[in-house]
Amino acid sequence: MRKKIIAGNWKMFKDLVEANDFFKQLIEKLPDTEAEVMIAPSFTNLWHSFQITRDYPIEIIAQNMHEENLGAYTGEVSAEMLKSVGVQRVILGHSERRMFFGECDEQLNLKVECAVNNEMNFIFCVGEEMEDRNSNNHFKVIKRQLDIGLFEMYPEDWKHAVIAYEPVWAIGTGETARPEQAQEMHHFIRKTIADVYGNEIAENVSILYGGSVKPDNAKQLFQQPDIDGALVGGASLKVSSFIKIIQAI
Ligand code: PEP
Repeated sequence: MRKKIIAGNWKMFKDLVEANDFFKQLIEKLPDTEAEVMIAPSFTNLWHSFQITRDYPIEIIAQNMHEENLGAYTGEVSAEMLKSVGVQRVILGHSERRMFFGECDEQLNLKVECAVNNEMNFIFCVGEEMEDRNSNNHFKVIKRQLDIGLFEMYPEDWKHAVIAYEPVWAIGTGETARPEQAQEMHHFIRKTIADVYGNEIAENVSILYGGSVKPDNAKQLFQQPDIDGALVGGASLKVSSFIKIIQAI
């Protein structure tokens, strides 16, 4: 059975005090839900966030990690380091990492391999640009991202994977994919996985939608059969909107 997940990606927002305030409120107001609730704070907030939430159903996850286990990579963080501060899941291939830090599919393939080797769970992001959609290349782009980034995994490695479909044109823009557009792509992703790995793996992997998910559009998105939750940016920064999105699932 695939899991429902609501994951917040804080990007480079919230210092230690702000993160602390957020979690105090979230813990107090967290609704009863069958969904798994996750937050990805900045690296500097991981340990404290883990400590403050450890007795509650909130998973603290990382926004990125390096593909090597250790080495002379100034400014980078390894899987082992993340695990040492209580993190068991990392976001890989967010479009901002691809766009601003030059992460390509081949590098992401190495990050996925590193995650699997370290028994680290991950949320693997895919998404097309608006020009890909306008030129009707969006399915091709997503298939390539999956092929190169993920499809060297062994079948048993899929237990570590969650996928987030995040159309680049919908991230932080206030523009959301229409529920039927998102469903079409989620179905395509599931079918592409089924073609390579079979139905059982495809049916069990959670596929989240990301791209300006807000309290007022979340419900319609979550009603789509292949949408198992959301990766939420802006609306995860406020406890009130994040909770409404959790309630919507
Ligand atoms: C994201 O950063 O993954 C994201 C989906 O951002 P937003 O919800 O702000 O579009």
